Amino acid sequence: MNPRVRFAPSPTGPLHIGGVRTALYNYLFAKKNNGTLLLRIEDTDQTRFVEGAEEYIIEAFQWLGIAFDEGVGIGGEYGPYKQSERKALYKPYAEQLVNDGWAYYAFDTPEQLDAKRKEAESQKKTFQYDANTRMGMVNSLTLPAEEVEQRLASGEHYVVRFKYPANLDIHVQDLIRGEVVINSNLLDDKVLYKSDGMPTYHLANIVDDHLMKITHVIRGEEWLPSAPLHVMLYKAFGWEAPQFAHLPLLLKPDGNGKLSKRDGDRLGFPVFPLQWHDPKSGETSSGYRESGYLPEAVINMLALLGWNPGNDQELMSMDELINLFSIDKISKAGAKFSLDKAKWFNHEYILMKPAAELRPHFRKILDEKGVTCSDEYLDAVTDLVKDRLNFLPDFWEQAGYFFVAPTEYDPQALKKRWKEGTGEKLRVIDEMLCGIQPFDKDKAHDMVMQYIQDNELNMGQVLNSLRIAIVGTARGPELFTMIDVMGIEEVHKRVMRAIEVVNL
Ligand code: GLU
Repeated sequence: MNPRVRFAPSPTGPLHIGGVRTALYNYLFAKKNNGTLLLRIEDTDQTRFVEGAEEYIIEAFQWLGIAFDEGVGIGGEYGPYKQSERKALYKPYAEQLVNDGWAYYAFDTPEQLDAKRKEAESQKKTFQYDANTRMGMVNSLTLPAEEVEQRLASGEHYVVRFKYPANLDIHVQDLIRGEVVINSNLLDDKVLYKSDGMPTYHLANIVDDHLMKITHVIRGEEWLPSAPLHVMLYKAFGWEAPQFAHLPLLLKPDGNGKLSKRDGDRLGFPVFPLQWHDPKSGETSSGYRESGYLPEAVINMLALLGWNPGNDQELMSMDELINLFSIDKISKAGAKFSLDKAKWFNHEYILMKPAAELRPHFRKILDEKGVTCSDEYLDAVTDLVKDRLNFLPDFWEQAGYFFVAPTEYDPQALKKRWKEGTGEKLRVIDEMLCGIQPFDKDKAHDMVMQYIQDNELNMGQVLNSLRIAIVGTARGPELFTMIDVMGIEEVHKRVMRAIEVVNL
């Protein structure tokens, strides 16, 4: 049977990169195994709903190139895929559990629950609604049947709680962690359904995974504590459970704890795929896209945070990742985020991209600077500078002088390279270069070298002063290639201006 997997985010804010990695692993698994990946929006907790989060999630995956086969925004035969639109469907399932003795109605008011908590605290204990305490509470296990009927009929608030059998070892089989065993006495009778008509995450998640024929649940380690309840719910419904794989946490760069929302902007890297503007706090958090990462680099980096292909290969396209992916190579240990690694991946992907593909990014930067030029010129400049870029916005800093002539010259470079008489020598060289018709960079190189040799000049001095005249500083790519790309007319103007401005 072809696997069916899902990514099931709750629209409570922007998608953390840990969530992106979860979606990526689901995607790789589905593609590798000719399976189906669906996007389900789990929005049953209306109090945590955040405006714009769902649109953000969809846009982020479009940018990253993770395509869903079914789900919100796509459709499919198991829809609707947004839980709030499935609301009416869950109640009968909650009732079925009550009727079968796997759950019960609880009517305890917030005050009654609070009193129980306080009472436990006074004995230095924590209150838990469970097999030990439930018979002392106000629920359908302790009230006479008629009273339960009456309370339900009169519209009294209630919740449906799961009824764990006492002292039962619950076995969770995890594809990454092996077998995990938890005793039911440690677990509280989780709320599954509320009288406002909304299921909680647990009930909706299990019902939907079943109805949507999910075969593998691949999700973050933070859901492992919920897995025993989920295993029990499948048992209670008499359904076959999917296979579980709980992914290792993404850790802070120093390995001390989970990578949190706040870490990114504090430590200088984004933790969200796209920039996020929080509608409530007004706060803006940076995103990989806006920081100048290429989506391919983000995908490659995330794939290796918790998984490896079994050798030391690091650069892998999406197709290669799909080909190599397997759940048994996912590690149990948390994966440390590394900014240096992120930078390295991005640099490598910029290098790999043909200039024409980078063009739209750099065109945007040039537009912002009010610069126009031909595509040919932009591409030629790109090829010359791309090995100096870690992030797309580095382009201006590394290549701005190709588009705007320098008006100032780096004083330190001048001090070192520009001596009395330098202007005269540059005038001679300029004349020589302008005389090469049509311009030929190898010829130019040979002529200048010959001139240096014939006049017994200092090579570093001459070449660097020419460079300063063109660039404004003593940096940049190979001199004659740069002159060739910039064009001899432009170079001539720059040299003349430098001689005039520096004027030693
Ligand atoms: N809605 C849950 C979340 O926000 C889904 C967890 C799961 O995959 O079961 O992560």
